[in-house]
Amino acid sequence: MSRFWSPVVHDLTPYVPGEQPKLANLVKLNTNENPYPPSPRVQAAIHAELGQDADRLKLYPDPTGSQLKDAVGRHFGVPPEWVFVGNSSDEVLAHAFQALLKHDKPLLFPDITYSFYPVYCGLYGIDFETIALSEEFAIRVDDYLARGAANIGGVIFPNPNAPTGRLLSLDEIARLAAALPDAPIVVDEAYIDFGGLDVIPTAVTLVRQHPNILVTQTLSKSRSLAGLRVGFAIGQPELIEALTRVKDSFNSYPLDRLALVGASAAMDDEAWFQQTRRQVIASRNALSAGLAALGFEVLPSAANFVFARHPDRDAVALAAALRARSIIVRHFKAARIDQFLRITVGTEAQCELLLEALKEIVA
Ligand SMILES: *Cc1c(COP(=O)(O)O)cnc(C)c1O
Repeated sequence: MSRFWSPVVHDLTPYVPGEQPKLANLVKLNTNENPYPPSPRVQAAIHAELGQDADRLKLYPDPTGSQLKDAVGRHFGVPPEWVFVGNSSDEVLAHAFQALLKHDKPLLFPDITYSFYPVYCGLYGIDFETIALSEEFAIRVDDYLARGAANIGGVIFPNPNAPTGRLLSLDEIARLAAALPDAPIVVDEAYIDFGGLDVIPTAVTLVRQHPNILVTQTLSKSRSLAGLRVGFAIGQPELIEALTRVKDSFNSYPLDRLALVGASAAMDDEAWFQQTRRQVIASRNALSAGLAALGFEVLPSAANFVFARHPDRDAVALAAALRARSIIVRHFKAARIDQFLRITVGTEAQCELLLEALKEIVA
């Protein structure tokens, strides 16, 4: 508390990110980073941008990020005018809250979801209501529609949801968007690239038909670039313009030169992307099976993490026992999920270390 603070600051409850401990030899399975390095083309592109003497850094970057918009557009087969780029998908989401989700009627999102959403509502003064997930932790579109279209200002949810990992089908997302034609629907696809082996079930395929759908994605997870801070959104130009208006009222250059060239190179390396995401999917499926064999209940995951509980071992005690073995996972002190652990899918070796440790702990 300080008399110097703007009033809104007194009432903020900031988001708490997972810890980034500065310890060596940690098996870090707590913040859903990719265990594999980014495409080698990222480093090459950043080196090329730096050049001999980093002289280019004296110049501002392209404020429109057109190189990256082109690369994202190529990957998805959409025009660059349908793409918005930002300094992380958290920033893109923040702009979406301010630009598209603040209305007289409440914004709806799941009771168990990405904990940044209520934080943005607090920051921007957005009225919201949460809709309970089913007993099986699934999003039920009918529970949203039951509020009545006239009473809904907008809807946002991650797909797959976080921290449950459960996927909502594209048919259900289309049904929601069609039933709420006047409400923006933001689909936060931070983990969607782990959602299918041959076909990635992205709602980008719905944006031509549904002018109210905005899809956000990040390069932090499936492109192994959490440290570069790059995210984007795809939607019809009417939605993109709202984001651009907010961005240009906030920071004209959210993406620096190194981020623009590095992210563009990552988007263009399809082979690296396919190989690493498939490896993570394979490890996730093996990890889920391994946990089930140890007696855990594991929610079906379409993400690069699994959400699991043991019927007779306390989650906090399990996390502490893992930490004593230098393995860190994420626990959320929240209603309905406080007996679950969210475990990031690591390399095969890391997953094996985790399973061996849990085997000892639950024995
Ligand atoms: C990780 C995550 C993000 C944020 O990604 P950044 O681009 O690293 O900010 C957004 N939404 C969900 C659900 C996430 O888990």
